[in-house]
Amino acid sequence: MRVYREEDASLEHLQGKPIAVIGYGNQGRAQALNLRDSGLDVIIGNREDEYRERAVADGFAVWPIAEAAERADIVMLLIPDEVMPGVLEGQIVPGLDEGNVLVFASGYGVAFGKATVPPHVDVVLLAPRMIGAGVRDKYVEGGGFPSFIAVHQDRTGQAKAIVLALAKGIGSTRFGVVEVTFAQEAELDLYTEQCFGPAFGQVLTTSVDLLVEQGYPPEAVLLELYMSGELSYTMAKIAEMGLVEQSQLHSTTSQYGSMSRGMRFILPELRQRMQQGLDDIRSGRFAEEWEAEQAAGCPTLQMLRESARTLPLYRLEHQLRHTLRGEPIPPELLESAEAPSAAIAPEAQAAAEATSARGSSAVARGGLFSGLVSTLRGLLAPGPAAAPTGSLSRQQLERVLRRFCQLVADDPALQAFSQGRSFTSHYVLGDVGLDFFMRFGDGVVQSALGVPVPPAEVRLETSAEVLDGMLSGRLNAMRAAMSGKLQFKGEAKVAMSQQQVQNDLVRLYSQARNEVLGP
Ligand code: NDP
Repeated sequence: MRVYREEDASLEHLQGKPIAVIGYGNQGRAQALNLRDSGLDVIIGNREDEYRERAVADGFAVWPIAEAAERADIVMLLIPDEVMPGVLEGQIVPGLDEGNVLVFASGYGVAFGKATVPPHVDVVLLAPRMIGAGVRDKYVEGGGFPSFIAVHQDRTGQAKAIVLALAKGIGSTRFGVVEVTFAQEAELDLYTEQCFGPAFGQVLTTSVDLLVEQGYPPEAVLLELYMSGELSYTMAKIAEMGLVEQSQLHSTTSQYGSMSRGMRFILPELRQRMQQGLDDIRSGRFAEEWEAEQAAGCPTLQMLRESARTLPLYRLEHQLRHTLRGEPIPPELLESAEAPSAAIAPEAQAAAEATSARGSSAVARGGLFSGLVSTLRGLLAPGPAAAPTGSLSRQQLERVLRRFCQLVADDPALQAFSQGRSFTSHYVLGDVGLDFFMRFGDGVVQSALGVPVPPAEVRLETSAEVLDGMLSGRLNAMRAAMSGKLQFKGEAKVAMSQQQVQNDLVRLYSQARNEVLGP
């Protein structure tokens, strides 16, 4: 185990070498200020906009990107990964001389072959494990923060000494610097974003869902779980003392309870999912998918963002934050919170009210908390678990689905969607033992009850109730997926693409339902 510290790095390697910081955003500003305060010669390259004005106001000489790159010996790329390849090729590479140093802050572009670097320069990575504001604040306080460094190309034989010197210049060797490869940095970063973070998010939303359903006051649930700040304080202590040692800061009841019950959550499936996520990253599948998504104008990202904002938890958090500050809840939050309950079927609303009355002190308090109660209803009632089914029997559902499959196969809108695609979605309704599939391929749609052969690219598992709610338009499919009531296996991107025809599926299912069961 090797950690590089102050004594392992020397600023001598940077003497007489102008450094161009390209991009004056979160990291760019913080790193540029730290390097200058460490006595180094720093200029900025940025487009003409408010970032540029900020750099000028901070006293830097600011040049257009290409000119800054040309003037410097060391070029630090502090621009987003998405724009990196184009800026690098068009504006940076032409200005690089023999033996110059190209410094990345993220391994992504090089690791996944998106950024092409010329052979006549050093190519290194300096990636702080800290947000930009923290990079600056820690430096000013006299403290440090960790960074990853890597050497991809060592043209001068000095590449490692130079990147260590830069790490010292930004204040990172005060804490400690670890050497990795570009690929390791990129993969670890993506793993944290795509596996560790979402798994933790699911633990959190599952807990909110469970506890609110069980009648605990939502404001107490959110405070208990994370909104008090205790969790982030504990995480800081875990970083400082270690996972095991920090448990001594908690009561013996807590220690016994969490350690004795912890074994229950050793789930082989969790590890499998994480392995799957890592495989997606390491194979480059994620990078390819993300590149195609950007080329298409990010329609899926847009849809995911919108769906996330419809989660009841989103409004609940906002309402609680206003309430804790003693502020009235803005009308738009109350309106949007109450909107879903208007769509709730009477029996579901009654069930939600009964649950609220049982457990929620918010009901009694009224006033500011009334918004929380509305949201609680939203959380309970329109959620997939409590969706009104219209009490479809297995036989009724089978007849509806049989007709639905016929309509799907003959529908011109779905046939148009099928042009240029090739995938099958397999729906598994485990609770009623029904399967059906839709196969899209070159303008043709096949759909039938039963299990598809060959196996489908996308497998969607849910209950009859959730499927009926989703295809009747009462439930948001993306939200059902996000809340775990609809689980999919296979190609996420392919599964999400089907959202484009969700309205058509709702139209056809409603028609089938009406024909079979009557309006
Ligand atoms: P920001 O979004 O804060 O800043 C981006 C900078 O890039 C701005 O100066 C922006 O200027 C410029 N920029 C954006 N688009 C273009 C473009 N098309 N052409 C030229 N310039 C452009 O980014 P961050 O500071 O967050 O991230 C920078 C790098 O640091 C990334 O590689 C990131 O992965 C890495 N990193 C980020 C960390 C973080 O905590 N944020 C941590 C560790 C590494 P303008 O749009 O005004 O021209």
